[in-house]
Amino acid sequence: MNAFARPLTRLKPSEAERQTEAISEEDVEAAIRTILLWIGEDPERDGLKETPSRLMRAFQEYFSGYRQDPALILTKTFEETDGYDEMVVLRRILFQSHCEHHFAPIIGHAWIAYIPKHRVVGISKLARLVEAYAKRLQIQERMTAQIANTIEAVLKPQGVGVVIKATHHCMTARGIKKEGADLVTSRMLGCFRDNALTRQEFLSMVHQDHHK
Ligand SMILES: [Zn+2]
Repeated sequence: MNAFARPLTRLKPSEAERQTEAISEEDVEAAIRTILLWIGEDPERDGLKETPSRLMRAFQEYFSGYRQDPALILTKTFEETDGYDEMVVLRRILFQSHCEHHFAPIIGHAWIAYIPKHRVVGISKLARLVEAYAKRLQIQERMTAQIANTIEAVLKPQGVGVVIKATHHCMTARGIKKEGADLVTSRMLGCFRDNALTRQEFLSMVHQDHHK
């Protein structure tokens, strides 16, 4: 079975999904073998014999987010919150993603905060939401916006803030080779955008964590 089959929630496949479903694991392994030949390797030597299937399976894991429906992850909410309307913050969520330009690792942490209106969600769901977007080809700016936008659209909170700090291996390992440089991105919606105190409260938590 193709590991990238569409999420079960949608019955009608898109054009991209129809193409995905037509590609077999053997096709992917053959493509990886082609790359090995092209770089000057012998795909038949002992050390590389299993590499196409190993790399194919690694890709299934790195890009498993395409099989997840991020909005669906957040649909199971708790409404009996006894009027809780303070900030909920999940700190330092570790993630590993890949840049869409070079397939290079992007490794970092996400901080997510929201102030609920009626609905809260289990904290493990917020971590899974990060995974669903991280396990795709990404740019950090878009991933940050996607996480915040999905929380806003599904939970309809008073506001949401997302900060991501990550190291991009395409910066540290190739090109300009700037080791240890972090890219910091953020997206603030609702009261996190409109209220400087709310935003400050969240950002000071992010800042504290960063200096631990
Ligand atoms: Zn890159």
